[in-house]
Amino acid sequence: MVKGKDFTEIFKAYVPGAKLRRVQKGYLTNCPFHSDKSPSFMIYRDGWRCFAGCGHGDAVDFLVKLNNQRPIEAAKEIAGMYGFADVNDFTPKQRKLLAEKQREEELLKAFRKWERETFVRLVGFRDTIQKTLDTYGLDAPEPVLEIVRDYWPQLNHCIETLATGTDEEKLALFKWRLL
Ligand SMILES: [Zn+2]
Repeated sequence: MVKGKDFTEIFKAYVPGAKLRRVQKGYLTNCPFHSDKSPSFMIYRDGWRCFAGCGHGDAVDFLVKLNNQRPIEAAKEIAGMYGFADVNDFTPKQRKLLAEKQREEELLKAFRKWERETFVRLVGFRDTIQKTLDTYGLDAPEPVLEIVRDYWPQLNHCIETLATGTDEEKLALFKWRLL
């Protein structure tokens, strides 16, 4: 949470016209993340929670979910709302969370880049091998024959996984750096 700032203010700014009902620990209102007939969204001084399952978090998480922003952008926007110079005006705990989120995003970006590049590289590699094989048959250089003999199913499996596999299956390849 931003130092000394009440999440209620941020919520009101982003969901204008929302009806807030005072309850013991904060305010109840309709959840902006799902079609909410009876208020199931709790606003606390330092964050929010949807009791219908949309999640919970602080102001940064709220903007990330509401506007599909990157955490760092959301943090800057909130800081900007209050005329803060930059994210250094956040509490140490907030900064730590931001850094963690940033790392997660960077890892995901690296994974996506690896996924794209490896797919292109492997398909190119397979094409080259296939062409050599088509041209020279069993007279192809030994390394080519060896790849076909020993690694062909694995190569095809990797390409197939990168093309149509789930993120989990791809992540397994990524983690083990099999490629
Ligand atoms: Zn909800």
